[in-house]
Amino acid sequence: MQHRGQEAAGVVWTREGRLSVRKGNGMVGDALADLPPEALFNDVGSAMGHVRYGTFGGDGVENAQPLLVRMAGIQIAIAHNGTISNASELRTELQRKGAIFLTNTDTEVVLHLMSRELENVGFDVRQALEIALGRLRGAYCFLLVTPDGMYAVRDPLGFRPLSLGQFPDGGWIVASESIAFAVCGAEYVREIEAGEILFLKGAADPVSERFRLDGDIFPGRSGLAQCIFEHVYFARPGSVVFGDSVYSVRIEMGRRLALEHPADCDVVAPVPDSGMFAALGFSRELGIPFDMCFTRNHYIGRTFIDPGKASRAAMVTRKLQPIPEAVRGRRLCVVEDSIVRGTTSRARIRALREAGASEIHMRVCCPPHRFGCYFGIDFPEQSCLIARNYTVDQIADILGVDSLGYLSREGMLSGVSAHSPDDYCTACFDGDYPVTPPVNPDRQNSEKGTEDMG
Ligand code: SF4
Repeated sequence: MQHRGQEAAGVVWTREGRLSVRKGNGMVGDALADLPPEALFNDVGSAMGHVRYGTFGGDGVENAQPLLVRMAGIQIAIAHNGTISNASELRTELQRKGAIFLTNTDTEVVLHLMSRELENVGFDVRQALEIALGRLRGAYCFLLVTPDGMYAVRDPLGFRPLSLGQFPDGGWIVASESIAFAVCGAEYVREIEAGEILFLKGAADPVSERFRLDGDIFPGRSGLAQCIFEHVYFARPGSVVFGDSVYSVRIEMGRRLALEHPADCDVVAPVPDSGMFAALGFSRELGIPFDMCFTRNHYIGRTFIDPGKASRAAMVTRKLQPIPEAVRGRRLCVVEDSIVRGTTSRARIRALREAGASEIHMRVCCPPHRFGCYFGIDFPEQSCLIARNYTVDQIADILGVDSLGYLSREGMLSGVSAHSPDDYCTACFDGDYPVTPPVNPDRQNSEKGTEDMG
């Protein structure tokens, strides 16, 4: 799951009824270089890993997950994917009541809410968790490990993906994306459902329950709000996400893009990696050759999720270079997954011109980004979004392309089939927020951006 976070990594494991944790900043190979063998070859208990892509709280190591605490004598570890929209209000309320926070993540709020309830519910962790979940708004998938087993939770609108897999010789595995299962020799079983708590213990069948929220928090929303941007950019193409193959959805998005905005060109060129499969669909639909016009440095990670502005800018430059022999004298159609600020795309287009492209047409595999996300993706401030400030024609001029076409919202949703298109969040494109965004979003990562996506 390294592609989902590069800031920090951590592991919790159980051994003889005790939980241990190891975590650090950086990529998994650096942060967990000295992991003890008992964490890796643990065939009796539970283990949980996390990679951090911070959307709430800074990038200090104290915010690395899993968070491991002891409450009323019970060890509990938690790992989180998403952003809790009302975390700032809950944090203020809890601090007024005396809670002392050791991190500035939204995740820690859950532990404090649980700890306040534990005695009232006879020290039943599941009940305390359910009561805590009732207070949360926004996007969250949680795993919690206790000495007794593991809980997997997905929020009632299902913003982020979470899947269940099974090992052939018994035992269960849960991951944000199903691609993790093959690596471990496990088989995909199903998605964890939105609003479900699953309790896993050894090889026993999982115990599934629904949890209830306090009050009507989704006025006017009856279905799910799964993040369509997982299919556009975030997830790996080999994964099944929200019941659909990411590969197939991207191919279909590219095909629809070709129908909506065909291009008179010699070659269709992806911006690697996430534009790859949409470009393939585009090329197949129009019968125009697909070619690689960029070479990608695979030793540089995802620049989108790199927290530092300076290091991100340097990484973006070093990451992709045009191949002059593939570009010179040709009319290119460059397929990009998305354009956020526009600074990266502009630099890439300039590099293609310098390499000798005779025409450059750009096609983008989603609608223009005009709104922020408060549900687990850290876009820059709205004022920095290029489509917030300029029309498509103006953006084409700014980028220096001969033509520019964005996939429509309907086209973007046309690739999904396991769920209705109405079951997807598209708020960063159309401003139709499924949950009221925070009034004063606590976005301490404002230096982060989406440079990988143009
Ligand atoms: S606002 Fe955009 S990125 Fe955020 S959850 Fe919705 S679709 Fe995904």
